[in-house]
Amino acid sequence: MGMSGKLMVGNWKMNGSLAANAPLLSDILNGMGDVNCRAAVCVPAPYLAQAQNLLAGSALDVGAQDVSAHESGAYTGDVSAAMLRDFAVRFAIVGHSERRQYHGETDAVVAHKAQRALAAGITPIVCVGESLAEREAGQTEAVVKRQLAAVIHTNGHCISEIVVAYEPVWAIGTGLTATPEQAQGVHAVLRAQLQAATAHADRVSILYGGSMNAANAVVLLAQPDVDGGLIGGASLKASDFLSMLKAASR
Ligand code: PEP
Repeated sequence: MGMSGKLMVGNWKMNGSLAANAPLLSDILNGMGDVNCRAAVCVPAPYLAQAQNLLAGSALDVGAQDVSAHESGAYTGDVSAAMLRDFAVRFAIVGHSERRQYHGETDAVVAHKAQRALAAGITPIVCVGESLAEREAGQTEAVVKRQLAAVIHTNGHCISEIVVAYEPVWAIGTGLTATPEQAQGVHAVLRAQLQAATAHADRVSILYGGSMNAANAVVLLAQPDVDGGLIGGASLKASDFLSMLKAASR
């Protein structure tokens, strides 16, 4: 079991607009009265200022969806961890499967992104997960351990400061969800790997992600090593996201 209290994080991906974000965020805030889990939304970079303004002083934290592996300089298009900090960003997703797949991010790049985030006081949400072919080939454990090992290797004793998200690639945006047993099985493997690296592995929240919704959240969150969720599609509707925050508040 990770740090006390569940952590629920919305990943908006490349969705939203100034006009649509404002009512979405205010509807979420207005419904959070009886929510007692930790919560954040990872918004597209151009909307960080809007999110910072609308969420200032609230129980909903601001997150980013990526961070540069470099500190500053000639990296056109990149956004540095220090820049994210300027907008009160608390979390940054690193190594999402869509970044690994469409932007060629390697385990080493992901590890350096996590390192930049940590150095700026931002909690990296490190995503790991196997493809369908890898699961069918019996490689799930080996894949997620290899992905996490790179981050452990680069970040040393800071590793207890990260958040891990187990996101089976075959479950992201597909409507297919890992069973609670499948999720718990991988989460236990990741917990053991963290325990071998730090005396504070119990502080690391291990989130599940992949077609989590209001209906399946309760049973997934009931697993002993599922400390919260990373939520894509269902975080774009205030009522769905709020149902999941409430499921995490029991
Ligand atoms: C994600 O992209 O992190 C995710 C879990 O997406 P979805 O919930 O839409 O499957």
